[in-house]
Amino acid sequence: MSCIFCKIVNGEISARKLYENDEFIAILDAFPSSVGHSLVIPKAHVDDILEMDEALAGRAFALAAKIAKKMKPALNCDGINILQNNGEAAGQTVYHLHVHIIPRYADDNVAIKWGTAADNEDEIEGIRSKLVL
Ligand code: AMP
Ligand code: ZN
Repeated sequence: MSCIFCKIVNGEISARKLYENDEFIAILDAFPSSVGHSLVIPKAHVDDILEMDEALAGRAFALAAKIAKKMKPALNCDGINILQNNGEAAGQTVYHLHVHIIPRYADDNVAIKWGTAADNEDEIEGIRSKLVL
């Protein structure tokens, strides 16, 4: 088992733990983008959200919301990003799903930004028809 987050779940590698239940652990990120950067990690290994049971994904984000509600007054941050990366192109580096909870400050150095794709109306409608559930 070479997965670093499985090793944290199993206690083989130490982590600064915030919370644990039957399904998840929450820890401080070891290389925080801002101080207090936290991670929600399911105990059962899944590579990414495409492999994850949807109800479990919902509970992962519910736990992230609980952490965010604690984080805001505890750290007095100005904002919070909750996000989750799937695949190398999306910035994923650890292939065991995790949800980031990142405290943000007006003058911080964290960069989470995107531009606007220049799609025309036909392209947008074509894409909508592919994505509609
Ligand atoms: P991602 O790029 O979305 O896959 O995020 C991986 C995150 O895991 C990064 O924010 C890393 O700083 C964090 N990370 C990597 N190794 C460890 C570790 N041993 N303990 C805690 N966090 C870690
Ligand atoms: Zn794993």
